[in-house]
Amino acid sequence: MANEKVKVLIIGSGPAGFTAAVYAARAGMKPVLYQGGQPGGQLTITTDVENYPGYPEGVMGPQMMVDFQKQAERFGTDIRSGMVTGVDFSGWPHKVTVDNKTEIEAEAVIISTGASAKWLGLESEQRLNGKGVSACAVCDGFFFRGQDVAIVGAGDTAAEEATYLSKLVNKVYMLVRRDEMRASKIMQQRVANSPNIEVLWNTETVEVLGDEEVSGVRLKDTVTGEERELDVQGFFVAIGHKPNTDIFKDYLDMDEAGYIKTIPGTSKTNIPGVFATGDAQDKIYRQAVTAAGSGCMGALDAEKFIAEKEVELQEAAL
Ligand code: NDP
Repeated sequence: MANEKVKVLIIGSGPAGFTAAVYAARAGMKPVLYQGGQPGGQLTITTDVENYPGYPEGVMGPQMMVDFQKQAERFGTDIRSGMVTGVDFSGWPHKVTVDNKTEIEAEAVIISTGASAKWLGLESEQRLNGKGVSACAVCDGFFFRGQDVAIVGAGDTAAEEATYLSKLVNKVYMLVRRDEMRASKIMQQRVANSPNIEVLWNTETVEVLGDEEVSGVRLKDTVTGEERELDVQGFFVAIGHKPNTDIFKDYLDMDEAGYIKTIPGTSKTNIPGVFATGDAQDKIYRQAVTAAGSGCMGALDAEKFIAEKEVELQEAAL
């Protein structure tokens, strides 16, 4: 295996990772950042970001991530494509394996791996994935122009994506499993103001129908237990996210959902020199701006850790 030594290794390229990179690079720590499977992270599959301070007119998610990357590069971050496939935090320096072949030793590791979309777990959903089933309205809505689609979920993501789809397609059925939505009032208002969105309350998905492509969906009324079929050509899933933290589970303390535990008010994990930032450790706020803020904390904590470690090593050498 190839071997390389770095001071600060950042895993992930969303707002947390790039902000950590800006701070670490400006502090002269020559950070190396691995982009992971979705360069730019979740914001690359979003449209308008209207709530990031500093953009009074809003900004498109993908453009914002291009800007984040440029800022990180400007100060000398070494940005690489590649997926971290394993870690060994049993000693120090920490060992990180990339693409199952490159081993890197890092004095500090900043985890900014974010979260990924959740699925319902139906066989038909998996079989028809990419053939009419999607977890990203912004990526795939275009393919269903003028057609009828369904979207599952009742949070801000589902409301936002339903509204986005309503501008492209003929009709959007929003499948809500309870008799209320957890989306914020403003997002619910946007759904209510879209004449071609129909909310189906107390509705569960039993099966996505179709052989080679989606032709409909079988639904169940959770109150009466009655089942019925609905003709749709697209089926979108927007039911939340799972943190991308599986590769760390042998070493890091996590909650039952897999969010990495950090010492409150810091980005420190239970392993000295390993810091967690962004959605990988935040199940409450999950915003670009909070992720960026925690990325900053990760870099400042890493800088302090490395400085203290250097003093420790010098004293040990005397
Ligand atoms: P949430 O966890 O907020 O919502 C998930 C939704 O999916 C819930 O309504 C839940 O139903 C439903 N759901 C979960 N599992 C199933 C299932 N098996 N079948 C049917 N429905 C299911 O996730 P979001 O991705 O919507 O939002 C995550 C965070 O990001 C939130 O904090 C949100 O506010 C924020 N966000 C903010 C935006 C903005 O401000 N512009 C845009 C997008 C997200 P139930 O309610 O019954 O549990």
